[in-house]
Amino acid sequence: MAFENLSERLQKALRNLTGKGKISEEDINAASREIRLALLEADVNFKVVKDFIKTIKKRALGQEVQESLTPGQQVIKIVNEELTKMMGEEAVGLTKSPHIPTVIMMVGLQGTGKTTTVGKLAYRLMKEEKARPFLIAGDIYRPAAIDQLEQIGADLKVPVYSDPEEKSVAKIVEDGLAEAAVHRNDYVIIDTAGRLEIDEPLMKELEEVKAVAQPDNILLVVDAMTGQAAADVAKTFNERLDVTGVILTKLDGDTRGGAALSIRAITGKPILFTGQGEKLTDLEVFHPDRMASRILG
Ligand code: GDP
Repeated sequence: MAFENLSERLQKALRNLTGKGKISEEDINAASREIRLALLEADVNFKVVKDFIKTIKKRALGQEVQESLTPGQQVIKIVNEELTKMMGEEAVGLTKSPHIPTVIMMVGLQGTGKTTTVGKLAYRLMKEEKARPFLIAGDIYRPAAIDQLEQIGADLKVPVYSDPEEKSVAKIVEDGLAEAAVHRNDYVIIDTAGRLEIDEPLMKELEEVKAVAQPDNILLVVDAMTGQAAADVAKTFNERLDVTGVILTKLDGDTRGGAALSIRAITGKPILFTGQGEKLTDLEVFHPDRMASRILG
């Protein structure tokens, strides 16, 4: 399970504080050291950890704790609040266009779960909003990606636009959008190509697609299992494409959790959903407060 180690370590670090009538500076320092190590081991970005510890220490040594009747509990509450803040405070939804269709462009490295997540999102919109999504297969370099999306479309009974002959992804997207307009679909979800690493041609292509599609949402799909690297990738994608949000996949795996905890602080962009498995139903709205409480047990 994700966060298992981090969870244990943090709970241990805080356990010593509970039940104490008074908390000394030394107690706070000791707990901070443990929390710091736990976060670093979970692969949270070091700068994010540094800021976090600084805030925790400042608040823990401040009035709200010293004057509290249960100072240990108060510190735990502070850690919970700051952990929530680190991940973004409130749950954030998709940006809806005032006119149809709302366009969602998915971006991310290969293998992160983009194509799978297109299907999950379509399924979710159909179920929650009785929406009629339209999918565009913009990953033309990986032939299996088109088949994969066609299969998802067939499973969901949702139209998929693809054009294996066309070499320009921007053109495919343009044609796909025109077809969606004819059928008055309310959502268009565009799958795009990924690479194993970020490269210039990929970024250029994505910028072109963005210019043509004028998406209301650019969602960066990030594999939580890749830890610290995921946060770096997110930073680059965001600098180039100004993404609107992040979907963190594979949180069902044995991830240390660092990506979930660092991405918001590094990009300033919210995590909208998390992928919790390979099935179409395995997509959940991300609630920072619930995640913090889950981690702290
Ligand atoms: P793409 O290259 O980014 O389009 O990635 P795919 O959608 O093809 O996904 C790559 C692999 O990750 C597939 O085997 C998916 O089933 C798997 N996958 C995607 N999302 C999740 C998730 O949330 N959890 C798990 N466990 N596997 C996932």
